[in-house]
Amino acid sequence: MSVTKVSRQDIRKIISDNFNDTDIRFSNDELLGYLNEMDRYKPMNLDVLDFEDVLLEMEESGFLRPIAQNFNTRYYKIMTDLVEKTCKACNTTSFFAEAEEPKNCPQCGSVEVG
Ligand SMILES: [Zn+2]
Repeated sequence: MSVTKVSRQDIRKIISDNFNDTDIRFSNDELLGYLNEMDRYKPMNLDVLDFEDVLLEMEESGFLRPIAQNFNTRYYKIMTDLVEKTCKACNTTSFFAEAEEPKNCPQCGSVEVG
């Protein structure tokens, strides 16, 4: 897996904590708001473009359903209910859409997610 500026695990955690319902619409701007509250990202002065790569990956794997776009603001819903799984390689627990493929661990990239 490529290195991303914003952790894949952090994005999944924010979505599962705040938008874990297939009826809830949320935007990359809202995700940015949550990231900016985290100590590790505060000094980075992040922009939505800094984690666009992670969101595109999550569209392709079937976690995120893109709903609309207005300039740099993108709106999403989660594709299906989320399931919690723990990586057999690094023991990180994260959330996946049931039908998401591949279910790569967002922390270490392993496919050994049970
Ligand atoms: Zn892992």
